[in-house]
Amino acid sequence: MLKIVIAGAGIGGLATALSLHRAGFTDIEVYERVGELRPLGVGINLLPHAVRELTELGLAEAVERIAVKPSRLSYYNRFGQPIWSEPRGTDAGYSWPQLSVHRGEFQMLLVDEVRRRLGAGAIRLDSRLTAVEHGEHQEHARFARANGEEFEVAADVLVAADGIHSALRAQEYPEDGAPVWSGLVLWRGTATVPSYLDGRTMIMAGDGEQKFVAYPLAPADGDAPGSLRLNFIAERRALEGTSELADWNQPIDPAPIVQLFDAWTFDWLDVPATIAAADQILEYPMVDREALPGWRFGSSVLLGDAAHAMYPNGSNGASQAILDARTLAFHLATEIAALEASAGSNATTAAIRTALDAYDAVRRPATARLLEMTRQLGPERVMQLAYDRAPDGFADVDDVIPAHELQQIADDYKRTAGFHPSTLNERASLSASVEHGAVAD
Ligand SMILES: Cc1cc2nc3c(=O)[nH]c(=O)nc-3n(C[C@H](O)[C@H](O)[C@H](O)COP(=O)(O)OP(=O)(O)OC[C@H]3O[C@@H](n4cnc5c(N)ncnc54)[C@H](O)[C@@H]3O)c2cc1C
Repeated sequence: MLKIVIAGAGIGGLATALSLHRAGFTDIEVYERVGELRPLGVGINLLPHAVRELTELGLAEAVERIAVKPSRLSYYNRFGQPIWSEPRGTDAGYSWPQLSVHRGEFQMLLVDEVRRRLGAGAIRLDSRLTAVEHGEHQEHARFARANGEEFEVAADVLVAADGIHSALRAQEYPEDGAPVWSGLVLWRGTATVPSYLDGRTMIMAGDGEQKFVAYPLAPADGDAPGSLRLNFIAERRALEGTSELADWNQPIDPAPIVQLFDAWTFDWLDVPATIAAADQILEYPMVDREALPGWRFGSSVLLGDAAHAMYPNGSNGASQAILDARTLAFHLATEIAALEASAGSNATTAAIRTALDAYDAVRRPATARLLEMTRQLGPERVMQLAYDRAPDGFADVDDVIPAHELQQIADDYKRTAGFHPSTLNERASLSASVEHGAVAD
């Protein structure tokens, strides 16, 4: 049986461990840089294509227990005037819902599930990947502990799911440098606020220069009836002197941000009051990385943000990492299942590399197209169009953007991101078994 080492216990690495295990691989170890896993971050959305994969991994019920299913996604201009609204998840005809979750709670759920299914020792903490040597038949991964101690692990396959500052990516593409900054800053937070609209609508207001995104994460706890726990992202071009270091954990003072959104009091949501009510606000420069010419090096491969960090427009970061994980497990299982029982090391190594190339051939172009679209604002282009054509607002959006143009933008994004209902509901499952190859639906 193959030994598979995964670097990074983020959503990508954990989903990879669970996908490989579901496909029948048992010798899997996850090495994580931090010494303690804590529920960091704020909200993320799991789109129906990712929820399909979580369902096939047997995780849907557990995730739904910590999630809200958004009913609609509605776009507004900076005056709160409606531009476009569409149903989401099962309300939009998908066989699977969209789920809004707290990133940290979702990550902890995956951590628990990896430990339950793969064993209590499957995740090794305080283990930072520093380098990988690609041998003829084995990968030799070097790790360092916080105290400076180093150790090496040999594996048949190494998956680098080590995030936007990936060590494997930096080793293989030394000219890659720092993440690319758009010049925009995101302020993310959660706040308990009075319920708005139907209590399950994700909203985006503004344009390419300044924007506010919000969606419910949960009903408010206990004693606040009619309230909900909201995730929000306030976004604006950076003020001079802002650092472009991509660090998710820099709490900052909400007052200047409240001021920036001072005029954004809509009759359906009070934006400055929401920002002022935040438990804490994390500042994050909007960065991504260039698409790469290849993700496989020997029998090592990039996955998730390590391979394709992109802007959060379209809420696709975690969903794409989950799709990577399932696609990788599918190809590895089907190639290994096709090997003769007597296959030697050469044939096994060749099968592994064929599988990793197949994963690369599917996922790299798909995420490169998506990366390009997120740079063009993704589905949020409708907001910029409304601004370009009517910067001072409008009485009726039909006078500014015809409905068919709005529909086209929404459809194009879903097709590119792989979650148009017509294709997602019909496509074959990515479930596979190392014993039998592809598994019929
Ligand atoms: C702390 C944190 C908070 C975030 N908060 C949000 C949020 O609120 N909203 C949102 O949309 N997205 C957030 N993201 C990003 C989002 O989780 C990812 O875009 C998406 O889930 C893809 O996940 P990933 O596993 O590929 O990368 P990541 O989520 O970045 O996970 C990478 C993991 O690898 C570990 N790691 C890094 N370097 C090494 C190394 N050399 N060796 C071993 N392990 C290593 C990291 O500690 C991390 O656990 C956050 C990411 C992080 C790390």
